[in-house]
Amino acid sequence: MRAEPVEAPFDKLRAMRSELRAHKVHAHVSIRHNQPMATIHKDDKASPLITKPLGELLRLPVGQVDMTAFDPAATSGFPGDKQDAPAITEELAPELSDLQERFYAAGRVKETTSEKILVVLQGMDTSGKGGVIRHAIGMVDPQGVKIKAFKAPTETERAQHYLWRIERELPPPGLIGIFDRSHYEDVLVVRVHNLVEKSVWSQRYDEINAWEDSLVEGGTMLIKCFLNISATEQKERLMARLDDPTKHWKYNPGDVDERAKWPAYVEAYQAVLERCNTERAPWYIIPSDRKWYRNWAVAQLLTEQLRALDLEWPEADFDVEEEKARVAAI
Ligand code: AMP
Ligand code: MG
Repeated sequence: MRAEPVEAPFDKLRAMRSELRAHKVHAHVSIRHNQPMATIHKDDKASPLITKPLGELLRLPVGQVDMTAFDPAATSGFPGDKQDAPAITEELAPELSDLQERFYAAGRVKETTSEKILVVLQGMDTSGKGGVIRHAIGMVDPQGVKIKAFKAPTETERAQHYLWRIERELPPPGLIGIFDRSHYEDVLVVRVHNLVEKSVWSQRYDEINAWEDSLVEGGTMLIKCFLNISATEQKERLMARLDDPTKHWKYNPGDVDERAKWPAYVEAYQAVLERCNTERAPWYIIPSDRKWYRNWAVAQLLTEQLRALDLEWPEADFDVEEEKARVAAI
């Protein structure tokens, strides 16, 4: 899954980095190369290049939301240009992979006390939820993630409370849970299509907040990402799917009908972002018109969140020397 690092763009990055140093200008994100793995996540905190984590740039402040204020084509915090994106994103892979393994190890060793992580991906059709999973989440060991794509509920699911099917997919300790759509559909598509009465869906915002709060209380770190694309970009992506026979399977004629409801979706998203954005379970707005930025941003965000856990390798609960002697004697 991981390609070998491309050397040429790194030369450019190195040059950029020394230029930044010379001018005492700070980039938002450090550019690392050839550092021994073991020291990477420790050194990061002290890195003079990091002034503001991406999470701080993309985190939606709690309070009123103006959807028009978010630029879907922004490249906030990205330390380079489009052509640098593959290399910069790829450079995250070793650290992200190392952090994920530490996280997995912690989950295995202290099953009841270790933290849990859940990434929630929401966004309009074609915003790239699948692309993020393939390109950003795809950088870690597939054994370490639990991915669930939520479709329209089955009859069995509909007979239950809407959070029932969500609860069942929560990640166990050590696994990074990824939701492609989520309980938020129960206040998005459900609201736009009047699938239940207003008196029902309007109660759900508070209920979702309380439920998410209990998740956080129970040790789950929630990373809620709104993949924000423009209507123009969506049109281009739908057309591109039609123009390419290998993408026809991705095209759903129903998407055009959904598209006609764009303003209603914007309103529904605005309500979600306003009412379900808490200090403990915040939303991150991911500008998603540029796929290369979107993928990097989610990978960078996940890396930062994992770093913040300060994960140490679990200590052996056996006598290492004694075991060495036993293995040697085999
Ligand atoms: P896709 O993500 O393109 O595979 O499509 C999944 C479909 O399932 C979308 O049209 C969603 O709106 C729909 N869906 C997901 N969750 C729900 C829900 N709780 N109620 C109704 N439809 C849903
Ligand atoms: Mg779809």
